[in-house]
Amino acid sequence: MKQIQNVKNYLTEAGIKPSYQRIKIFEYLIENMNHPTVDMIYKDLVPYIPTLSKTTVYNTLKFFVDKGITQIINIEDNETRYDADTSTHGHFKCIKCGNIYDFSFDNKNLNIKQIENFEIKQIHLYIKGICENCKNKK
Ligand SMILES: [Zn+2]
Ligand SMILES: [Zn+2]
Repeated sequence: MKQIQNVKNYLTEAGIKPSYQRIKIFEYLIENMNHPTVDMIYKDLVPYIPTLSKTTVYNTLKFFVDKGITQIINIEDNETRYDADTSTHGHFKCIKCGNIYDFSFDNKNLNIKQIENFEIKQIHLYIKGICENCKNKK
């Protein structure tokens, strides 16, 4: 993903008023590229921001998504994760450790059948399996 030098400017350019909580939440997303859930972000940030609530985290992320600076990952039906990298890339979830890994793919050569003449706006590619670390652990 592209480098973000100044979160405050980045939010402002996206049309978001850069409040302290919004800056902290966005910084968390770009520093922890682990595709966190609302609960993970809340748990990690509340020691530093005692006034934070889960609703605020949820609403802030929803706002980021609406403004196009965050994407939602729904690799599991019962779990929504967030990613500040909005470029087209796929997600691999390890069924053993639960980690989600980014991977890139060539979206020009996807060899898609049946919908060749459709206009594609978004691609979500989810793969599940066992990551290299877990595969090598005996
Ligand atoms: Zn794993
Ligand atoms: Zn990602």
